[in-house]
Amino acid sequence: MEDSFMNLYPVTDPVACRRDKEKLLNQHAVAIWIYGLSGAGKSTIGLGFEKEITELGFMCRLLDGDEMRTGISNNLGFTLEDRHENIRRLAEVNRLFLNTGIITVNCFVSPTRQIRDMAKSIIGTDDFVDVFISTPLEVCEKRDTKGLYKRAREKQIPNFTGITSPFEIPEKCDLEINTQSMKVEECVKILVDYVLPKITLKK
Ligand code: ADP
Repeated sequence: MEDSFMNLYPVTDPVACRRDKEKLLNQHAVAIWIYGLSGAGKSTIGLGFEKEITELGFMCRLLDGDEMRTGISNNLGFTLEDRHENIRRLAEVNRLFLNTGIITVNCFVSPTRQIRDMAKSIIGTDDFVDVFISTPLEVCEKRDTKGLYKRAREKQIPNFTGITSPFEIPEKCDLEINTQSMKVEECVKILVDYVLPKITLKK
């Protein structure tokens, strides 16, 4: 570590601070990490989840890839190195939310196991809920909600996940949702049912 950083000490105890905030909000904070191909359904499910649990009285913040890339990561591209740095920053942002007692729902492609492992190690295994949206490439490409697959096939977009940049399927995950033949509401319900016991504060 550089000498200039050696005298930096946190001003508060983040764990004690977090427990107090969680009590105040009457919830246990976790980071829900939703990943998969573009068009798989991450944002749609993330938004539905945020809406449902807000109505149930929980404080949750959705973090979406597109929003982050126009702000905190607006100097990064889509090489694997930049994707790594993007996720590192977003995982650190998650830590800030978790230490404020706030549940996060993250919708990021997070294409490689190494990238997801890094996010998990920054956030902490116990607080990380790993949700793979396993909608197949053919279905995502057919949806092509943002027209990106067409442009990637026409070579107008370099390093596009699933076409010219890799996506590694996880060996294991906490929850897998394939949106191919389910309604949005059903997918959201699966996620809400899975997460509810984890965010409910034990008395
Ligand atoms: P991503 O965030 O993964 O890029 P989006 O949520 O932006 O994907 O887009 C997914 C598209 O698929 C939306 O147009 C959505 O309406 C559609 N879709 C169809 N069925 C489902 C489902 N069961 N869950 C989520 N999205 C679905």
